[in-house]
Amino acid sequence: MQVVWLKRDLRVRDHAPLAEAAARGRVLPLYIVEPSVVRAPDFDASHWTFIRDSLAELREELGRRGGLLVVRVGEAVEVLESLRRDVNMVAIWAHEETGNGVTYARDRAVRRWARDSGVLFHELPANGVVRRLASRNGWARQWEERMARPVVETPHGFTPVSVDPGELPTHAQLGLYPDLRRLAQRGGERAAHGTLDSFLAERGAHYHTDLSSPLTAFDGCSRLSPHLAWGTISTRQVVQATRARVARAEVDWKRALRAFDARLHWRCHFMQKLEDEPAIEFENFVRAYDGMREPHFNADFFGAWKSGQTGYPMVDACMRCLAETGWINFRMRAMLMSFAAYHLWLHWREPALHLAKLFVDYEPGIHYSQAQMQSGTTGINTLRIYSPTKQVLDHDPRGVFIRRWIPELRDMPDDGIAMPWRYPALMDGYPRPIVDHAEAVRLARQRLSPYRRRPEAREEAQGVAEKHGSRKSGLKPTERKPRKRPVPTAQGRLF
Ligand SMILES: Cc1cc2nc3c(=O)[nH]c(=O)nc-3n(C[C@H](O)[C@H](O)[C@H](O)COP(=O)(O)OP(=O)(O)OC[C@H]3O[C@@H](n4cnc5c(N)ncnc54)[C@H](O)[C@@H]3O)c2cc1C
Repeated sequence: MQVVWLKRDLRVRDHAPLAEAAARGRVLPLYIVEPSVVRAPDFDASHWTFIRDSLAELREELGRRGGLLVVRVGEAVEVLESLRRDVNMVAIWAHEETGNGVTYARDRAVRRWARDSGVLFHELPANGVVRRLASRNGWARQWEERMARPVVETPHGFTPVSVDPGELPTHAQLGLYPDLRRLAQRGGERAAHGTLDSFLAERGAHYHTDLSSPLTAFDGCSRLSPHLAWGTISTRQVVQATRARVARAEVDWKRALRAFDARLHWRCHFMQKLEDEPAIEFENFVRAYDGMREPHFNADFFGAWKSGQTGYPMVDACMRCLAETGWINFRMRAMLMSFAAYHLWLHWREPALHLAKLFVDYEPGIHYSQAQMQSGTTGINTLRIYSPTKQVLDHDPRGVFIRRWIPELRDMPDDGIAMPWRYPALMDGYPRPIVDHAEAVRLARQRLSPYRRRPEAREEAQGVAEKHGSRKSGLKPTERKPRKRPVPTAQGRLF
């Protein structure tokens, strides 16, 4: 029996482990609902909704081909061991996963168990992320090669196996709170392809301009992120469909889709960082920044940020929107993180965990790299402090998005929507800002500056660039012109 262990790859199309297993004998596709994963602080009921929907559809798809989806609740090694006693398990096939600390440790345990039990364990590349990468030089070329490979054919039929398929557990059975994200995207391979098709046929025409504002991004961005995160579609499928569309596109569409294509590359570029250094889920890229924010963690600030009560309308509207939809566009995610890190001076770890639960598309590799990038702890990225007031003026000047999510501000005139405290009589219980923007930014720079100037921070930053930096120029980092040192006052750009 060839077991196909499904993780973040809930599809039948372009699924190499499924095809390889099917080519070798009887196949048993297996999903393991692991209590350690479900109870981890980054897991949310909305993730389970998406996974459960996807598994239900997968069960149908496999069933149509004479196959079976087996679902078990338990820790991976225990489940596999018990299955091994029931069936003649020759091999396990799975995609490589760039997950969180829990799944990283579990994969190591499964590898050990497989070795000790005489079961072959084949892990195949899941996307453009390269396991055991020796150097970032040449990585972009490898990514291109992987994306260009033909999509793997779905096996036409499976030999029936007689194993109890197991129920898909409910939220209550898993001890998950009810899913509060009533407007979140639904899972499944059909939804993934429908989303891709509508983006490439209509919605993507102005992608490069639509992506910045929460008014236009919900339709104008691809919205493929939860599907890519849980694998109801592969990165390669999206890249190939996009390039085929570019080939027959008019100029405007070309520009939009090239911007989109670049982000598909970024996806793996960011995930590669966690693959190469799993510790960045917990620790600063540059350890010389350790201790910079930790002693200042203000639980009241964190509470206000989480509940959309900071007194800054764009921050609060985004947070409240996320609580119901599970999605917001890149710029607003960056603003939320930057506000937590600079204005509220919160260490990124707790805010990142909170956002991980809010994002239905939670992808650890992108998430922690971005959380650190927006908090200024990578050492290699320009310091970006977003002004929440400027975001309103630039991206929602009439307050359409803000009024939808902050009903307290429904009677606020347009010229007060960015700074409602100017009209205290019309705030209807909406709080005044918990920090003063200019003062908070001044203080953040003052606190950051000595850390950025430390020689050991600069040295570590060079190491981060060597290990994780993109090689756009095609040159090795040592061949590039030396980077300008950060200016001593740690002036950041204000976005
Ligand atoms: C603090 C922070 C945390 C984030 N956490 C996540 C996360 O957990 N999961 C996640 O998928 N994205 C994350 N992002 C990146 C980005 O915001 C989302 O990928 C994007 O908004 C998803 O919507 P979309 O699929 O419509 O994106 P599109 O704009 O249509 O892009 C298509 C795909 O490209 C990839 N992509 C887009 N932008 C980026 C980027 N800046 N970096 C890396 N990959 C990118 C994603 O896979 C995305 O689905 C985070 C960004 C920030 C600032």
